[in-house]
Amino acid sequence: MAYQLSNLIRARFPMIYITTFEEDRVTRYIRKVVTDTKQVKFEREVYIWTQTDGLRNDKTGKIIADTVCPCKMLEFIRKHDKDSVFIIYDFHTNFGVKNRTPDYNVIRKVRDIIPDLKLGTIRKTVFFVSPELIIPESLQKEITIFDFPLPTLDEIKTKFDSMVNQNSNVQLDLGEEAKDKLCKAALGLTLQEAESAFALAMVNDGKIDISDLSIILEEKVQIIKKTGILEFIRSDYTMKDIGGLDNLKKWLLKRNNSWSEQAKKYCIPAPKGVLVTGVPGCGKSLTAKAMSTIWQLPLLKLDFGKVFSGLVGSSEENMRRALATAEAVAPSILWIDEIEKGLSGLGSNGDSGVSSRIFGEFLTWMQEKEAPVFVIATANNISNLPPELLRKGRFDEIFFVDLPTLDERKEIFKLHLAKRLKDKSVAAEISLVKNLCTELAKRTEGFIGSEIEQVVVSSLCDAFFENRPLKFEDLERNIANTVPLSTTQREQILALRAWANVRAVSATKTADLKKYSKEVGENDITSARGGRTLDF
Ligand code: ATP
Repeated sequence: MAYQLSNLIRARFPMIYITTFEEDRVTRYIRKVVTDTKQVKFEREVYIWTQTDGLRNDKTGKIIADTVCPCKMLEFIRKHDKDSVFIIYDFHTNFGVKNRTPDYNVIRKVRDIIPDLKLGTIRKTVFFVSPELIIPESLQKEITIFDFPLPTLDEIKTKFDSMVNQNSNVQLDLGEEAKDKLCKAALGLTLQEAESAFALAMVNDGKIDISDLSIILEEKVQIIKKTGILEFIRSDYTMKDIGGLDNLKKWLLKRNNSWSEQAKKYCIPAPKGVLVTGVPGCGKSLTAKAMSTIWQLPLLKLDFGKVFSGLVGSSEENMRRALATAEAVAPSILWIDEIEKGLSGLGSNGDSGVSSRIFGEFLTWMQEKEAPVFVIATANNISNLPPELLRKGRFDEIFFVDLPTLDERKEIFKLHLAKRLKDKSVAAEISLVKNLCTELAKRTEGFIGSEIEQVVVSSLCDAFFENRPLKFEDLERNIANTVPLSTTQREQILALRAWANVRAVSATKTADLKKYSKEVGENDITSARGGRTLDF
């Protein structure tokens, strides 16, 4: 990181934009880089500007008179005759935030000083440091965005140690390994947020030990939630909770621990991610959740729709922040649910190309990311997916999840009945039915997983209402009352399959599909299947 920023400074990039909530940390960092002659060759003075005080010499603390006005401050920069960097806080307000039009005089003045910054004999660099990324169109070629990463584990550990040292009354009951765990749990937070989470853990009972892990994780869940576009999902689903989809499950299991030291010996490239498309309600989301448990990695769900809607802050900034958070907690899994929702407006002129730019950035990130972030994208409506997303090299594999086969339905019934029939008095009659799940599977041709679950739940409601054990007839009746999605959305499913046959691999294992195609009749929706057959 240091190398990169010092290079930008030495190469006379005139203006660098850093989006962050961590003004202090960024300022400390810039100060360190520009006063280190090994990195920048010539030491620079540091000036800091705020809308309230104007420019201040960072070393002497002296305020430069008459620089509160942005144009006057910029003129000072232009005339200044010593090698310097100028750290300008919150200038985005002049570039135009919501409900405030851009100040075109200021934008013009910014452009006026650029030739001097680029070509003048004095070395000067301007840093815009702001929590929001707003760059006017006319300045986009001149301002370089620098991604300032969230704190590393070492930085968080240093903060933790300093807090413990400062609070001598807090009892410390931690070995190195436990401390490592606590600090790792704070990855993905700003230093300020990590500090608050540690402080909360300390004041809780006057001591800090491994039991505080849950407090820190809970804080992290809340903080990530506040971004409005990322959600930290805690799951205890395992692959055993998914009926069928054996091909997909096996593929995922084979990639477990791909980031371990052991895997490095095999020179396996870190997996990029997987796209899981298919019929709704057949276990795509369930798979993402189970993966996080099996791989023991944090699962962050990104709401692509919100990123592009601009409802929560600036869309570009949202995307950057989400990716930076996923990288900071890496190795991690980034789950983009219903990826097509965010991409449906792509290419339209309504947003002056912002969506296309964000999407382009996302694709580049997918392609080039070095941090071990595995992306699992799920999609129902593939017609909205841009072809660039499906190009080879983006995802390691594209899977298609179809209506469950007979064996898969049998498994799904078994799972949902076993999960709920824990009380013997409720299960008494149903457990006597011979080949129960086979019988139910036979009666639910064309049902999706969530419909099967619903049949079980509704039947239990009926039994509960009448205060009696569950009966086979309850399940039969609820099956008969269900009009499956495969009937109401027959055309859409057939179209999905036609798409998948050339682009995706079937999530169901081949043996299951073959066996299945012999069992069913002529009905195209239940006999044909989507996705290429290929076993992993
Ligand atoms: P959507 O795109 O509509 O969100 P989805 O494919 O992601 O659909 P899930 O959310 O994974 O579907 O499934 C909905 C519910 O249906 C799950 O919580 C689960 O209870 C049940 N279900 C679906 N498929 C399966 C399955 N293969 N095994 C077990 N349960 C399943």
